[in-house]
Amino acid sequence: MTPEFDLTTRNTFGLSSRARFAAEVTSAEDLEPLLGEARARNLPMRILGGGSNVVLRPYFDGVVALMSIMGREVLGEHGDTTLVRFGAGENWHEIVEWTVRQGLPGLENLASIPGTVGAAPIQNIGAYGVELVDRFHALSAIDTTDGSVHQFDREQAQFAYRQSVFKRSPGRFAVTSVTLALPKTWRANVSYPGLNDLPADVDAVTVMQRVMVVRAAKLPDWRETGNAGSFFHNPIVDSETAEALAATHPGLPVYPAGEGRSKLSAGWLIEKAGFKGHRHGSAGVSPNHALVIVNNGGATEGEISALAAEIRHEVLKKFGVRLVQEPELL
Ligand SMILES: Cc1cc2nc3c(=O)[nH]c(=O)nc-3n(C[C@H](O)[C@H](O)[C@H](O)COP(=O)(O)OP(=O)(O)OC[C@H]3O[C@@H](n4cnc5c(N)ncnc54)[C@H](O)[C@@H]3O)c2cc1C
Repeated sequence: MTPEFDLTTRNTFGLSSRARFAAEVTSAEDLEPLLGEARARNLPMRILGGGSNVVLRPYFDGVVALMSIMGREVLGEHGDTTLVRFGAGENWHEIVEWTVRQGLPGLENLASIPGTVGAAPIQNIGAYGVELVDRFHALSAIDTTDGSVHQFDREQAQFAYRQSVFKRSPGRFAVTSVTLALPKTWRANVSYPGLNDLPADVDAVTVMQRVMVVRAAKLPDWRETGNAGSFFHNPIVDSETAEALAATHPGLPVYPAGEGRSKLSAGWLIEKAGFKGHRHGSAGVSPNHALVIVNNGGATEGEISALAAEIRHEVLKKFGVRLVQEPELL
């Protein structure tokens, strides 16, 4: 374990942060001694992947496991899918390219999402009409409370919109590998705006390349301007509430979310509350995308959290809608 480990280059917000201890984890077996050390010192332990969905406090008084378990293996056919297993430390976008380019389509709509494979199930990542749950088969995880090893299938993972059993118990399970099920009979999903001018018989590489281009045009590049992507979930409300809001606020995008529920656009609400381009110290709301909070250079966790609180307060006041923060405050 390295003491006083600098995490500043390990989070896409570029926030200055240190951990009391951190260690690279390159195999599932590496976790056991680390858990033992954390327990012996009575310190909390957290897993960090690519740091693209966290807001790091200046100091984490605990042990950070830097997830670096690698590995890619095509396991074979399973019903009408091909199973492929990945180590939790693999880079998500790289495995999307790796599968699509070798004729295993299914992940192309999820291209360019930063971070690691192991983090993908935590919030059931999603983009352009596809979520991880649509391609998920199983995962292996270690229960950090007692070191026991568990397998989770789709049902046990309890996926929902940006939710899972893992997100509901932060820090409890350390994901070590993820097995995806890629469809043998594939049809492009190009129904989403930005893709819907592509022909129905388009190939997966073209869809992936289009997703990469559209995302690069819409989202600020975190390597240049620190950010964690969408800062808030799109709120899900009952459909009556959504209809009433849409009637008083023409133009509000409302999407069906099943079971008499509707999904609202958090970005639209934030923009209409007047926050697009707004600044709080060195933190700000992207001038191009109201759902993205950015670090304009030297922003602190305190500034980001204060800006987020200001946005939540105004959106609640103006629309009566509660926004929920997406990146975990660590
Ligand atoms: C520019 C940008 C665009 C984005 N676009 C999208 C998008 O389109 N859709 C989307 O869903 N998300 C998006 N995100 C969010 C983010 O990329 C994903 O949530 C990603 O899966 C996080 O991966 P990570 O490895 O960086 O996780 P981290 O930020 O390192 O961790 C996130 C959470 O997962 C936990 N965690 C990480 N690895 C493990 C593990 N192996 N086991 C257990 N817990 C773990 C951490 O403790 C933390 O709570 C975007 C982020 C950015 C910066």
